[in-house]
Amino acid sequence: VLEFDNVVKRFGKRTILDGISMQVQPGEIVCFIGPSGTGKSTLLRCVNGLEDIQGGQIRFEGRPVLAHERSAITGVRRRIGMIFQHFNLYPHLTALQNVVLASVVVHKQDRKTVEARAKALFERVRLSHRMNAYPAQMSGGEQQRVAIARALCADPHILLFDEPTSALDPETVGEVLGVMRDLAREGRTMLVVTHEIRFAADVGTRMIFMDEGKVVEDREPRALIANPSSERARRFLSTIT
Ligand code: ATP
Ligand code: MG
Repeated sequence: VLEFDNVVKRFGKRTILDGISMQVQPGEIVCFIGPSGTGKSTLLRCVNGLEDIQGGQIRFEGRPVLAHERSAITGVRRRIGMIFQHFNLYPHLTALQNVVLASVVVHKQDRKTVEARAKALFERVRLSHRMNAYPAQMSGGEQQRVAIARALCADPHILLFDEPTSALDPETVGEVLGVMRDLAREGRTMLVVTHEIRFAADVGTRMIFMDEGKVVEDREPRALIANPSSERARRFLSTIT
């Protein structure tokens, strides 16, 4: 279970997350939508301990997520995988090296074992033929699927996606969403910031509309899309659909 208990995030004097409280159960696929600057990325970054928080608490599997925890890489954050809009692969490493790096170098796992696991993951993201390519030699959709394999290699219990398809050419969006659909079908717990409304409606078990650092609506995706209860959500949805 992932729990937010009155989470407050400030940058300087600006309040970015304004008292977020919610729980995410295992297997839920929670899609986040909302206007730019509303705090969606910041929320995911706080879950992954990339940002500290000024109030409240985030707990995952019963343990608080702390940005400055010294044992962060061995602690609760190790079980939280994040996929970014801009892939963030290491350009000087091959796809395979990108995927195994953290497990081998940070977690000191046996290279052969990790590579065997990585190869299976490349099959899952349908990229077995690209394992030895460098990021610059791959399409955006391929790079994003490598980033997903990299996240999966750490055996995360929850996956966070921040607009995973926003930087992609339209023709490669589908291949990334396809992999995400597979993950959803496996019962993975996922938090997804996306403006892909069709995906959210098909795959999401829950949709959250955020505005100005607050959860404004938290409902079944199709119901929210078809019939938003707030004027703000209604206005926002009319701009993206
Ligand atoms: P978008 O849809 O454009 O991605 P978002 O909902 O993800 O928007 P965030 O990126 O979470 O929004 O940003 C929320 C607010 O926090 C914005 O006003 C942004 O300028 C501000 N912000 C984000 N990161 C920082 C930072 N490191 N320092 C100061 N302000 C920041
Ligand atoms: Mg964002």
